[in-house]
Parts: sequence; structure tokens; C-alpha cells
Amino acid sequence: MFVDAHLDLSMNAMEWNRDLRRPVNELRRMEENMHDKPDRGNNMVAFPELHSGNFAVVVGTQLGRYAQPGKSMPGASWNSPEQAWAQTQGQLSWYREMEREGHLRQITKLDTLEDHLDKWNKDPENTPIGLIRSLEGADSIVSMNHLEMAWEGGLRAIGPAHYGPGVYAQGTDATGGIGLRGKELLRVMEELNIILDASHLCDDSFWESMDAFRGPVWASHSNCRALVPHNRQISDEQILEMIRRGAVIGTAFDAWMLTTTWTRGKSTPEGENVSLDSVIDHIDHVCQLAGNSRHAAIGSDLDGAYGREQSPHDINTIADLQRIPGLLAARGYSEGDVTNICGENWLNFLRNAWKDSG
Ligand SMILES: [Zn+2]
Repeated sequence: MFVDAHLDLSMNAMEWNRDLRRPVNELRRMEENMHDKPDRGNNMVAFPELHSGNFAVVVGTQLGRYAQPGKSMPGASWNSPEQAWAQTQGQLSWYREMEREGHLRQITKLDTLEDHLDKWNKDPENTPIGLIRSLEGADSIVSMNHLEMAWEGGLRAIGPAHYGPGVYAQGTDATGGIGLRGKELLRVMEELNIILDASHLCDDSFWESMDAFRGPVWASHSNCRALVPHNRQISDEQILEMIRRGAVIGTAFDAWMLTTTWTRGKSTPEGENVSLDSVIDHIDHVCQLAGNSRHAAIGSDLDGAYGREQSPHDINTIADLQRIPGLLAARGYSEGDVTNICGENWLNFLRNAWKDSG
């Protein structure tokens, strides 16, 4: 059984116009003649492949970006937090439709999680994929009232930052702290027991967040800076701090985060020899720092605005992650370690974070 803690499912549905009920191959065919995005026709994630890959639970994101006037941001962003909020509400509406049709089941508390795992174990084919919702980048949270509304609607994790400067925290390639608004966000998140996703926080904002926040922390999709030096990756010091807090760190599959030699738009996974073994190098690094297998896991971010052209060359779809157990075993990981890394660590994290939620 697998758990993936970072998939931009609703972004794919609503911005890439992918109907994730259709198999990956069919979606590829539909995109054969499209060139509006570099990853067209290279998608790897859809509900049928999540099922055949035995993904019992996934963390699905909502994502709406806001660029402050005069501050340039990579990628598309809205000109106001209100527009970004509306974007995330459209994404939520898609998740709701998929729940209504029985493709997904929203999980917001412990008894639902256990009930879902029970059903998945008995009859995975006829059980919806378990969905925990997370917000990547908090700029769309217009006010703390919006945060409460989001929590009531089932939002259970937030990464305050994404790329560039943000309202509540500074993200990848930016610098600076979280300010008063960031502290307020973290305080209300702590009150509501929303998980802090540390992925994308720049170093200043990371350490200020660690000081300010006492609730549960994970890094849904972060690789090791010791292996691939770049501020998007997390340092050993950051990994050790998160381990101390009981965090789980998901390894991402984006090729540039797996090798030191990647040039965007030029390199190929074959050319740079980016494979599942590269993913396991990062998982192994976290395990070596922890001294055990309880903190490393998968947050693949597959189809997170990139596709096969920028993913390990030995996987065709997300279902091929089923080869990970064999590769871990080949490196001496026990069956228990493999179970931990492939999903149990996320589940245990949630059991602990939600122990008072009923
Ligand atoms: Zn991301």
C-alpha cells in the first residue's frame, strides 16, 4: 500500500484540463497536438493508475498564487488574494465532484482514516482513493476567516510559501522571514491543528516558522540539499530539526531536484541518468540522518507542472512506483522499513497529529 503526500490533482484537472478519471494513455492521446505547456502529453497521474499502483491515500493540493504588485513571480499568478481564493474554490469544487462520484473519499480525521484503510485492505478496487487536502502556498487565504472556512471544508495541511515572495512566508528563491501575518497564520493553524508543510519555505522563513509553530510539521515534497545543492532542497540541519519534531519528509520526483547536472528544457532523464535509484538516494539520506526508516517517505509531485520529460526515466506512470520496494530491499532495507517508507510513515504521522480528532 502506498501513500503519496504531494499531488497537484486539482491543478491538473482545472488548469491542464485533464479529466483524471481517464487512464494516463488516453489523456496523453488527447494532448498529442497541444503545445501550450512543456509537459503536454507527458502526464503520469490519473485515478486508474493510482488504483493500479495501490495508492490508498494521497494528499491532493489546492493552489492559487498571488503576485504582489511590482514583484515578479515565476509562473501564473493572480493580481489579488481574492482571485487566488476563488481559484482554490474552483479546485475544491472539482474534488467535491470526484468525491460525489466515488472516485475520491475526503479524509479529515482519524476514524475516517482507519475506516478507509480497512475498506482499502479488503477491496481496493471498489474503494475510492483516500484524499487529504493541502494548500500549497497560502496567499489565497484572504483573512483568518477564510482559513477557518477552509478548515471547516476539510483542509488539513498548508505550505505557507511556494515559489518567490509570499504574503505569509517567503518561498523558493526568495529570502526573508514570515512577518506578523505569517505568525498570525501559524497561530491560527496551530489552534485548528492544521499541519504545517515546510516544503518551499526559504531558510529564513523555515527557521522562523519552526520557532513560531508548535503543531505538527511535515515536508510533503522536499529533497536533500546535501545531495543536490539548491535552496529548494532542505539542509541536513533542517532535516534533523524536523526529525526531532516527528516530521515525515516526502521525496519529490522532479528530475532537477534529483541530480546536480540538470538544465531545464535541455536535459533528459536518460541523459542525466535520473532514475528511481536517484529518488532512493534521497530517501536513504533522510534515513541515515534519522538512524531509522520512520521519517522518509514519498511526496512525488508527479505532474506538478512537469511530466515524463522531467521524471525518473524508469517510470512511465505513477503505478510504476511499485518498483520502489524491490529497489529498497536491494539496498538492505527490511520489509518493515519498506512498509514505513512507502506509506506507513505518513499514516502514523496522521494518527499522531489527529489523535484527539475522533
Ligand atoms: Zn511544490
